Amino acid sequence: MFKASHSFAFFDYFRIPYEVRTPQQESGYAGAAAFVRMVTAVARPGQASRSLMWIGAEARPAAQNLAGQLGCYRLHNFTFFGHVAPDAAILAMLQQPGRGWHAAESIRAADGRRVAGIWRDTDGNVFLPFDPAEVMRLFWSEGYRDIGRSAIAASCRAAALRGYYLARPALPRSVQLALRRRFARVQSASPFPGWPIEDSLHDFYGWLFAVTADLAGGPVPFLGLWPDGRSWALVLTHDVETAAGYRDMDLLRAPERARGYRSSWNFVGARYQVDSETVRSLQGAGCEIGVHGLWHDGRDLVGRFMDERLPAMWEHASRWNAVGFRSPATHRAWELMHRLGFDYDSSYTDTDPYEPQPGGCCSFLPYFNRNTVELPITLPQDHTLFTILQHADADLWLRKAGHIRDCGGMVLVLTHPDYAHDQRLADGYQTLLDTFADDITAWRALPREVAAWWRRRAASTILANGDGWRIDGPASDTGRVCFAGDGSMTDQLRSASPTACAGQ
Ligand SMILES: [Zn+2]
Repeated sequence: MFKASHSFAFFDYFRIPYEVRTPQQESGYAGAAAFVRMVTAVARPGQASRSLMWIGAEARPAAQNLAGQLGCYRLHNFTFFGHVAPDAAILAMLQQPGRGWHAAESIRAADGRRVAGIWRDTDGNVFLPFDPAEVMRLFWSEGYRDIGRSAIAASCRAAALRGYYLARPALPRSVQLALRRRFARVQSASPFPGWPIEDSLHDFYGWLFAVTADLAGGPVPFLGLWPDGRSWALVLTHDVETAAGYRDMDLLRAPERARGYRSSWNFVGARYQVDSETVRSLQGAGCEIGVHGLWHDGRDLVGRFMDERLPAMWEHASRWNAVGFRSPATHRAWELMHRLGFDYDSSYTDTDPYEPQPGGCCSFLPYFNRNTVELPITLPQDHTLFTILQHADADLWLRKAGHIRDCGGMVLVLTHPDYAHDQRLADGYQTLLDTFADDITAWRALPREVAAWWRRRAASTILANGDGWRIDGPASDTGRVCFAGDGSMTDQLRSASPTACAGQ
């Protein structure tokens, strides 16, 4: 269906079928070939083939007037980050065939000023002044947080947070909470990502799906996001902070058990005694155990502490048959998480301005950080909702979970037995469990099952099969071929019901 000059991260992520054919240097595109990447829809009989072109981030011209400015931009209804090349640079690269090239859609700076455009010609070819792979990576890695703020402000802020964080174990709880509330006020003033919902990344996907469907002249097949005909995923996780939480696990486990849910329990290896009988009994009930650091003292992932502590964390993982990691206080860094050596990490949030390390990957879906599957936490944490923000009920949880369900995403919940004596949390959690207990569209999965599925999905491709399509690879037994047309990602995923997905 598509041929590409280079690998295309967006197609790889959604498993849209395409073939990479590195262009010959003597082709007509040689002039701009050093920078320009291209995917071409194979023409249907009687139609001209159409191409989508972009500037490869890894091959960007050195001159900034051609490469563009790394920054925060708006296109349609979403915010994105990346290098965006100005119109003059695109004009210089438009030596390709095609007539009537014009800047069809405006890309704006944060202040609303038009700075660049999406270029189109009369034959339906499209030229993006940015690299979609860079855009996706800057969301996933939270790399956008380094953009557009002065280095001095960033380092002062990081130092203040580190000071609070390292001092925390010694502070009385009331002082900790007061500090957290003060940070909460500061952090909620941050313009991006929005909270409790930030749709920019998924709106970006939806827009790119629409562009792609336009090239193809019809719906584009992709590998469905969830197995077994399910249209979204619901994943329950718990971090057990202290011995008190370890004692009180049943406050959260009992209501799950009563409603047929399974969940994952992340333990802090050296902070309290974890007995093998508890591990066996949880696993016997279908639950999962994960690793929540070694001491939970703010140092588990810091420099030499991490190197010293990793072998002990792995030892706990091996004893508990754990394959997943949740960082204490969601402390995380893109260059660190894959070094932990776990099958999956669940330390990123989609959006959370209230954590000691605020930010968010903006994703309701899993993604890869090198060989580690990242499973973002996508509902606000119990402590944030009920203790810091003093919500009275689960209304915000239900609204956000409903939104993610409608987007076909993954609702990944994090609650702590340590806080479950708070009746608002206990009641709120039961309301959440009740709301989706009978939802047959939900894949109620453990995080390790989601990570394993995401690997099978990434190792599978869609192949033409007569007039239709079939899945080749380890997802072939439970996966589905879905189709994305025009409209938003939300719309296309809403329609990713059996009518839009061919059963396998
Ligand atoms: Zn914790």
